[in-house]
Amino acid sequence: MQEEKLNKLYFECIQELENIGINIQNEKIIGTIDIKISARNNKRYGCCKQENPDKKYKVIQKIGHRKIIKYEKFNTHHIEISKWVMQLNDNIIKNTIIHELIHCIPFCNNHGSEFKKYAKYINKKLGYNITTKGNKEADYLASNLEFKEENNYKYKIICQNCGQIIYRKRFNKNLINSYKCGKCGGKLKLT
Ligand SMILES: [Zn+2]
Ligand SMILES: [Zn+2]
Repeated sequence: MQEEKLNKLYFECIQELENIGINIQNEKIIGTIDIKISARNNKRYGCCKQENPDKKYKVIQKIGHRKIIKYEKFNTHHIEISKWVMQLNDNIIKNTIIHELIHCIPFCNNHGSEFKKYAKYINKKLGYNITTKGNKEADYLASNLEFKEENNYKYKIICQNCGQIIYRKRFNKNLINSYKCGKCGGKLKLT
């Protein structure tokens, strides 16, 4: 069911991009793409796993004394859309699909200037809101779904004294003993 919906939206995205001159199905330039719903429940919206780098697009980046080999073009792309995204509005799902499709274009494997150029053009022409980071709270709201705070946070910490629950995006687990509950000064525990 969900896979069918994803495929339908995926082909709509491809068609819309073609209408504004971006041909994602040009295998010579883009390579091949497959798309599926991620098996694991990820925090992120989606991802694009790149394979088969094009040797002609090799760049050597120097960072101090170190050399890093990078490729600006890949010939195989595996897009995964996170399960939780599939419950959102169709246009938000498509926003996520197009974000990942941009990553399939040469020189767009990261969120650099080339990626941003495409995102800006697509947003302007097709009315999407492709950004480098999504806004989960806004996307849940726009989909008339309840946004639970814990959806957005990685760590749940509980005060062992008063039971207060604290959510944190970043948290140093090694320092748990030196932190205290802001309400009662009690000891905290990571759950
Ligand atoms: Zn991205
Ligand atoms: Zn407390």
